[in-house]
Amino acid sequence: MTSKFDIGLKHIHAIAPYVGGRPISEVAREYGLDENKIVKLASNENPLGMPKSAQEAMKKAASDLGRYPDSNGFELKNVLSASLGVPTDWITLGNGSNDILELAARAVAQAGDEVIFSKHAFAVYPLATQAVGARAVEVAATHQYGHDLPAMLRAVKDSGDRAKLVFVANPNNPTGSYLSAKEIEAFLSELPSHVVVVLDEAYNEYLTPEQQYDAVSWVKRFPNMILSRSFSKAYGLAGLRIGYGVAQAHLTDLLNRIRQPFNVNSLAQAAAIAAFQDKAFLQEGFELNRAGYTQLTKAFDDLGLEYLPSAGNFVLVKVGDDDQAGARINLELLKRGIIVRPVGNYGLPQWLRISIGLPEENTAFIAALKEILS
Ligand SMILES: *Cc1c(COP(=O)(O)O)cnc(C)c1O
Repeated sequence: MTSKFDIGLKHIHAIAPYVGGRPISEVAREYGLDENKIVKLASNENPLGMPKSAQEAMKKAASDLGRYPDSNGFELKNVLSASLGVPTDWITLGNGSNDILELAARAVAQAGDEVIFSKHAFAVYPLATQAVGARAVEVAATHQYGHDLPAMLRAVKDSGDRAKLVFVANPNNPTGSYLSAKEIEAFLSELPSHVVVVLDEAYNEYLTPEQQYDAVSWVKRFPNMILSRSFSKAYGLAGLRIGYGVAQAHLTDLLNRIRQPFNVNSLAQAAAIAAFQDKAFLQEGFELNRAGYTQLTKAFDDLGLEYLPSAGNFVLVKVGDDDQAGARINLELLKRGIIVRPVGNYGLPQWLRISIGLPEENTAFIAALKEILS
């Protein structure tokens, strides 16, 4: 028997829990499939898996798990600090970069405040906003499903003093949309200095050399900016949960006050140090991703399917014109052992998001999609 537990908390009840890519074991059970034959292209993980260098580092660190991790992440922060050219007290380590997004919301927003982000932006922004009781202001996207930064700026200015935080993802997930340095810099210059902005660069390492820009120089210029990066995607460490934020010391100090003392475990710290220095692994993943992007988009062209240009390691493809199309094709793919991500919860029910996999994984997905659509 369940009794009603009601202590108010309307803002918590209003949260729609995060729905991730379906685990391989779950799909295997549900559809009676062999786990080893399932292809998962659903969570933007690195199809190469973990770098060997990180595996070795973890093995060494594993003997010391009886002790708490280094709460201040001394060694990893030193490696990041040297590479990024910022002091260590500008760096916050997170249990995934998701942790950084939440710390930002908890540090600067509360009930009565507004948090601004784009429509079709990463699902954690509304979650982090609602969890602190703040009001989420979703700004209409551009006609290409990207962030409309001038409109987001207007939303900040229209909020009176209520806007406290803005989330900007570049590239954005699930759309893959990309903002140029010029656009971001213009936005940062106009943003009132009492409003904090998180520039979420979870897919930064997948940008081409022409698309790359120097976000750290903005952190140095703008005291209200937090740069967020992840080890889950290009670095291949999604299961370990580690990411980091870069912001000036005063803002970093705020995040440090509210984080869990031991928010990043020892294995994750050891693996991240190794992965961050493993340039060969990053390069291999980058090239694999470019090739996979060409492979997938060529297949979409052949099938006459619309897709969005993506700067990340995933592609959003339109699989039908009705609002059940995404769910319907997704189900057919699941029956064939292919896991991708429906994005109806992002307001994109006609689309599916496909993480770019190994060539043979992409091939299996394309074959299944062809069969379903024919
Ligand atoms: C995956 C993702 C993250 C969070 O990744 P972590 O695993 O928590 O580091 C953050 N932002 C975007 C846009 C993402 O797609």
